[in-house]
Amino acid sequence: MTVASTFATSRRSHLCGELREEHVGETVRLGGWVHRTRSLGSIVFLDLRDRAGLIQAACDPRFSPADVIAAADRLGAETVVEVDGVVARRPAEMVNKDMGTGTIELQVTALRIVGPAVTPAIPVARGKDEKLAAEELRLKHRILDLRRPELQANMILRHRLLQVARHAMSSHGFLEIETPILTKTTPEGARDYLVPSRVHPGEFYALPQSPQIYKQLLMVAGYDRYFQIARCFRDEDLRADRQPEFTQIDLECAFVTQEDVQAVVERVLVALWKEAGHDIAIPFQRLSWSTSMERFGIDKPDLRYGFELENWTAHVQGDAATFVHDGITVGGLLRGIRVPGGAALSRKDIDALAATAKSNGLGGLLWAKRTETGWEGQGAKAFGAGTMEKIGGVIGDLIVAGVGADSVALPAMGQVRLELTRRPEHAPATAHAFCWIVDFPLFELDAASGEHTPSHHPFTSPHPDDVHKLESVPWECRAMHYDAVYNGNELGSGSIRITDPAVQETIFRLLKVPAEEIQRRFGFLLDGLAAGAPPHGGFALGFDRIAMLLAGSTSLRDVIAFPKTTAARALFEGAPSPVSARELAALNIAVSIKEQS
Ligand code: ASP
Repeated sequence: MTVASTFATSRRSHLCGELREEHVGETVRLGGWVHRTRSLGSIVFLDLRDRAGLIQAACDPRFSPADVIAAADRLGAETVVEVDGVVARRPAEMVNKDMGTGTIELQVTALRIVGPAVTPAIPVARGKDEKLAAEELRLKHRILDLRRPELQANMILRHRLLQVARHAMSSHGFLEIETPILTKTTPEGARDYLVPSRVHPGEFYALPQSPQIYKQLLMVAGYDRYFQIARCFRDEDLRADRQPEFTQIDLECAFVTQEDVQAVVERVLVALWKEAGHDIAIPFQRLSWSTSMERFGIDKPDLRYGFELENWTAHVQGDAATFVHDGITVGGLLRGIRVPGGAALSRKDIDALAATAKSNGLGGLLWAKRTETGWEGQGAKAFGAGTMEKIGGVIGDLIVAGVGADSVALPAMGQVRLELTRRPEHAPATAHAFCWIVDFPLFELDAASGEHTPSHHPFTSPHPDDVHKLESVPWECRAMHYDAVYNGNELGSGSIRITDPAVQETIFRLLKVPAEEIQRRFGFLLDGLAAGAPPHGGFALGFDRIAMLLAGSTSLRDVIAFPKTTAARALFEGAPSPVSARELAALNIAVSIKEQS
């Protein structure tokens, strides 16, 4: 007799997919979904499925009553049944190596239909090469999609990762403390989702963009080390890799430097990656934001690959074309990338790189291939022999380059680099490349509005070496802000916080928040900071993204049980949706919908 299953209940003895050869001879009672049925004349095979996997249940006149066989033959896919039977070894020729239960089967003696099912709108069981239904359809019928073994594996991994994160945080002395969902604005660069108050007509709660202010106030309140698996809400134009509500592993600690916070985050990441079967080395390397931009053209570099950006401005000789000189004269720099073996790229491939450069604002992409006979390509002509000599290279090299101001040329060349890294012939040098990006600028210029906005959030401390610039040249200040980056993905951000209310007010003023609004929106924070605030800092890891990466998936929707579409719709439940006039009246709200132009 084997040990009792953790999943045994009064109605079943095991999960379908957990049975193994050691159970042969045991009488068991299972519950599950009909995955597939196969009828071979008088014998009916059912594949029964639950979260542990599949088991073949055989209904055969040798051990099953006639009414069981007849009922099995009529079962539709996804019907829920309970079956009794004996676990038996399969004959050698019937063994299925692709199934965990492939060497055994259940000899059914009784069968009860406990959950009849309408014909499923999308198939749960798929043939080997059968494609998935369109995603929109799958999101609409999410419960069926969630039954797919792939999604079940993702949700189980997500659960395990959450347990590991909780355990890691708790074992380092962090207290799990929940903060409100109905709250006041927490600016993290997005719009707030607002919730009308019924009892206070005309007033609104905001859903938290993060627990940022609360976790800082917890430090002021003496709770020293806080964490939370926090749900955050941000109303922004969605991109494929964003969700309007998402989960963070959020933490804050007092009496720390940024290195202390980073050390804690590294330990959590080690534990998470370990749970997914990967050993990673710490500490991660640190790159300043400006170095990352210079070398990779991006603040979340994928360090699994080379192809670093180089500054070739000083290589430009007199024989280079006028437009190259002109570009440099107006303050541009020549940024190039060398691709060993890249001479094999076709004209079409290079045109695609040029299109990327252009769509990212660069005037054009210069390129040259080093062949047996010398340099070839429009870049070779534009640069002239003298410049090409300085740039140098060996047979088989491709060089690509662009001239422009750093604000344009670096990000554009960064995108060209990314495209190069994605080419199938460029295998990554390592599987897991983590780094910290530190010393971000305190503010960034928002291209759309022309206004300065915080690179992180307005509670981030200016770098102590730059505080003196805060009044004179604030846009040149660096911040005590750091990001964790993995294989080109931002895993999370954090910072050391402002604890001086006067500095905090200066930041709000620089961000043009009117004085009365500072009080109305952030008075409770400023009062808190004045009440004896310890130095503190923290971090938030984007948990959905981590789960997605560790599940080997490319969509956040694959690791969230009930996700939204990129248009922020919940297709399954049908949200958002209009509400009745009566409900609106109770909230003292009148809706007038503006014509969309
Ligand atoms: N609240 C920040 C965010 O959501 C993280 C932090 O600074 O701790 O990005």
